[in-house]
Amino acid sequence: MKLMLKVLKGTPYKQFRPVQNEALALAIDSPTGNIFEIPTGEGKSLIAVALLLNDAASGRAPWLVTPTKAQVDQLGQMFPNQTAIAFGRSEYPCLYYEDRGEKINAQESPCYMLKCPHRVNVQTGETDELGSTPCPYYQAKYEAEVGRDRGKITVCTTAFFLTNRLFVRQPEEGEDEESEGISVVFDECHNLAKIARGIYEFTLTDYHLKRAEEALMKFDRQQAYIVRRFRLLFMRMARSKRAKTYNLLELNDIVKLLDLLNSFQRSRVETAVRQAISSGELDETKDRTEIKTLENLIRNIPAFVSSLKYSLPEEKQDGVRHPLNYVVAFYYKKTDPEMQDKRHKTQYYLTIKAYFVVPLIKRALGDNAKVTAMSATIGNVNIFGHETGLRMPFTSFPSSFDATKTRVFLPKDTPNLSQRKARRDDPKKARRMVIDAAVQFRDAGHRSLIVTVSNDEREAYMRDAVQNGLYALTYSDEMSAREIASVFRSGEGEVLIGTAQQFGEGLDLPRNTCPVIFFVRPGYPRPDDPMTQFEQKRFSGSHCWQLWQYRVMITALQVRGRNIRTIDDLGVCFFISQQFRSFLRGSLPEWLKPSFVGNKSMDDMIDETLGLLTS
Ligand code: SF4
Repeated sequence: MKLMLKVLKGTPYKQFRPVQNEALALAIDSPTGNIFEIPTGEGKSLIAVALLLNDAASGRAPWLVTPTKAQVDQLGQMFPNQTAIAFGRSEYPCLYYEDRGEKINAQESPCYMLKCPHRVNVQTGETDELGSTPCPYYQAKYEAEVGRDRGKITVCTTAFFLTNRLFVRQPEEGEDEESEGISVVFDECHNLAKIARGIYEFTLTDYHLKRAEEALMKFDRQQAYIVRRFRLLFMRMARSKRAKTYNLLELNDIVKLLDLLNSFQRSRVETAVRQAISSGELDETKDRTEIKTLENLIRNIPAFVSSLKYSLPEEKQDGVRHPLNYVVAFYYKKTDPEMQDKRHKTQYYLTIKAYFVVPLIKRALGDNAKVTAMSATIGNVNIFGHETGLRMPFTSFPSSFDATKTRVFLPKDTPNLSQRKARRDDPKKARRMVIDAAVQFRDAGHRSLIVTVSNDEREAYMRDAVQNGLYALTYSDEMSAREIASVFRSGEGEVLIGTAQQFGEGLDLPRNTCPVIFFVRPGYPRPDDPMTQFEQKRFSGSHCWQLWQYRVMITALQVRGRNIRTIDDLGVCFFISQQFRSFLRGSLPEWLKPSFVGNKSMDDMIDETLGLLTS
């Protein structure tokens, strides 16, 4: 009870709701953790904070991990007394360069190569030079560390948690492994594997390698030649395939790249760079970008080498370990329009894509971790476990939201927009139906969100919307998706149009902001996508299909939830393509199934929506 009061103190909350009480009871009792599917608006944050304070009291270091910086900020504001916030390097200024009249952030600074008086030992809180102003980045890390020791929860992004616990923690000064396990809550955990794949992905380009090679030439020609041979080798491999396409590299190509990189002596280069800085051969200010390029090379090569190794199969005592990653090469021809733009410096890209991220997530969690994974859309818990390695007891909680206040519409008279089944005019027909409906809703005073799968589709909807007199907004080079969404939320525009990638998640449109959503079609993977090709090689046909179905299902559920954020909301979502018919109803959580309508025409559903919104 004391704990409960401590959590609620200084927050707008007076008591726990039934779902929160039930989830907390399960979570507190569990030694290893849980997977919770909790509908939006049921107060996941309060569950997370109460649970972590409880676990901190029993000696576990508490972490609350959420996908976006905005959510981190929001949690910090909601629970100022219980949390300490930790952001990534790019959010803090670098004082070393500020002393030299340059304004850059800690991410841009070649920090590891410098003797910086501001550096803070994250264990003791002391600066390298007594009396120096503490580096804001390291100071925040120190405060989070101390806060955790005193039972405060570190709130950070999923990216920060995974990189900090895996890559940064080991090389940074003064940081020790935690002997006791941590307690971590992953909010919006349905994205965990996807975010991990993005973080553990490495790209080398011909431009950056050439710059590293030129810088190295000054003091270690032998290592510079290794970088050059590597660059020329991967460029030749890329050129053997089609331009402007992500091509999967063959295993024997990966072996050749690995052999060459293995001969690169990273520590020798690091010593030489440090010497060059202290002798003045490299000037910290004038040659900053050069030093940063070398720092990136020195720091990334080990991770690059081990990722390449994991892109190969390995003989084990108990059988063969299949590749965990895959490698893709991409290049532009010199004559391509992109290469005519002087600002475009890179012609060749080599990327190691992490696929099977389970061992990495496990390593980031450390031993004996208690993990509570929460989301409004877990979907298939077995596939979630397969993708993340998190296999704990699963509970799906009902919603206190009144299901009669929303509809999940799948009209019976819309076309099937799949590549195989769509007839020539079907995409146009679907657009006409959506835009006509958006006009009717606009005339009745309601705004709409249209979610597409591709950018081409987004532009086509935008064109038709404008031609039909709708005040439609979308993002562009001039305005980012986040900026235009904020303009729309503030009341400007009648229709907002964007892809599922941009607006499928992280966009909150509560009541009256936008009560109508149209989701045009599910985004199944393209056959020419290297990840699709990797999965097809790695898994059976039915397993691949299950994975793809799972991903489109999670996206569909996320899109639907954009305008139902609290129990007071009112809104509908139209799923347009008949492709949704094979999985949509089945993928809805039990509490939402009564809201599904799949046997009426689009016109009838528009009438039903107008009735609902005026009720
Ligand atoms: S430790 Fe020094 S060099 Fe590194 S980011 Fe902080 S102020 Fe900059």
